[in-house]
Amino acid sequence: MLDTTTVKFDVNKIRQDFPILQREIYNKPLVYFDNAATTQKPSAVINKLKSYYDLENCNIHRGVHFLSQQATEAYEDAREYVRSFIKARSSSEIIFTRGTTESINLVASSFGKRFVQADDEILITYMEHHSNIVPWQMMCEEKGAVLKVIPIHDNGELDIEAFGNLLNKKTKLVALTHVSNALGTINPVAEIIQKSHQAGTYVLIDGAQAIAHLEVDVQDLDCDFYCFSGHKVYAPMGIGVLYGKEGLLDKLPPYQGGGEMIAQVTFDKTTYNELPFKFEAGTPNVAGVLGLKTALEYFKEQELESLFTYEDELLDYATDELKQVDGIRFLGQAKNKTAVVSFIIDGIHPFDMGTIIDKYGIAVRTGHLCAQPLTEFYGIPGFIRMSLAMYNTTGEVDRLVKSVISARDMLS
Ligand code: PMP
Repeated sequence: MLDTTTVKFDVNKIRQDFPILQREIYNKPLVYFDNAATTQKPSAVINKLKSYYDLENCNIHRGVHFLSQQATEAYEDAREYVRSFIKARSSSEIIFTRGTTESINLVASSFGKRFVQADDEILITYMEHHSNIVPWQMMCEEKGAVLKVIPIHDNGELDIEAFGNLLNKKTKLVALTHVSNALGTINPVAEIIQKSHQAGTYVLIDGAQAIAHLEVDVQDLDCDFYCFSGHKVYAPMGIGVLYGKEGLLDKLPPYQGGGEMIAQVTFDKTTYNELPFKFEAGTPNVAGVLGLKTALEYFKEQELESLFTYEDELLDYATDELKQVDGIRFLGQAKNKTAVVSFIIDGIHPFDMGTIIDKYGIAVRTGHLCAQPLTEFYGIPGFIRMSLAMYNTTGEVDRLVKSVISARDMLS
C-alpha cells in the first residue's frame, strides 16, 4: 500500500475497530467510500447497543425503580457529553432528535410559528441538502414568507457578495450547511453568522457533514442553531442533535405534543416542561443516545488534529490520483473543502459508472445526492461521489482509480 500521508495516524489499527471493513463484496475486500451517506460503526458502539438491551433497557425519566433511574442517568450523562463535545454553554441547549432532518423540521416549524410572518424572508444557499430546503419551503408556504437562495460560484464556493446583498430587514433566518455533502465545500460560517447577527437575523447551521471532519464550537461560532446526525459520526442511525441558544429555545413553542414535554395536563390547558424536555415528546431513542455518546468518545479518543490532517491528505491524494482519468470533471473545487470528491466522466452516466465499480467491491454514491438544484446548476445528470472517513486508505483510493479507469474503458 502506498503511504503518502505525513501524519502519524495508525489507520490499520483503526480499521480493526470496524467489523464491516473485514467484509468481502463480490469476493473482493469492501472499499467503503459512501461515508457522507452514513459512516460505519466501531465495535465499541455496536457493543454498547447490545449491552444496553442486554442489561440496562428501560424507559427513562418516569420510573423510581433502579433500571429506570440508571437509564435516566446514562441518558442525561450523554446529553452532558454532547454539550461538551460541541462546547455548548448548557445541557438544556442539547435536544435529542432523530437526526439533522428532524432537527431542521423542528426549527422550521417552531421558529416559523413564533417569528415568521407574511413577506418575511428565509435565506438558504444553492448547495443545501433537501433537508435544509424543503422544511423551509413548507414553512414559507404556510406563512406566506419568501425563500431566497444565495448563489454559488462555479468552483462550489458561496457567493459572499450576493449573500450581503440578499440580507435585509425582512430576513428572519439564514439556514446553511457547514460542509456541502455534494461538493465538500467548507462554508465560512463564522463570517456569515457575524454578518447575519449585525443585520438582526438568526442563523441555523446544518452540521451533518461537518461533525466528523471539523472541530465544532457552537459558542465560538455564535450560531443560534446547530444540527447534526449521529450516524454521520460513527453513531447509530435514528439519533441526532439540535443545539439552540437557551434564550431562543425558551421563546419557541413545542414541536410535538405528548409525554415528557409537559409540566401539567388538564383538559382545559396544558403547560409545558422546561428545556430541553419541552422538545422531546414521547419515549426517546435511549439506546441511540448512549450509542452516540460512545461514538463521540471513540472519535475523541483519536488524536483529532492528526485525524483531520490524515483525511485532508487523503482527500488531496484522491483528487490528484483521479486526475489521471481521461474525461474526468470535478464538481466542487473550493479552496476550503473536506472529505468529498465529486466528479463525472465525459459521456458516461454516473449510474452506469456506479454500477460497474460496485462490482469491484467499491461503494460510492451516484445521483443527485439529495441536492438536486446542484445537478441543474452544473447541467449534469448526477454526481459520482467518493466520501472519506478516518478508516479509508491510499490503497483504497488506488483501487477506486483503477476501477474507474476500467469502467470508463468498458463504457466508452
Ligand atoms: N444535511 C446534509 C448536509 C446532509 O449531508 C444530510 C444527510 N445526507 C442531511 C442534512 C440529512 O441528514 P439525515 O438524513 O441524517 O437527517
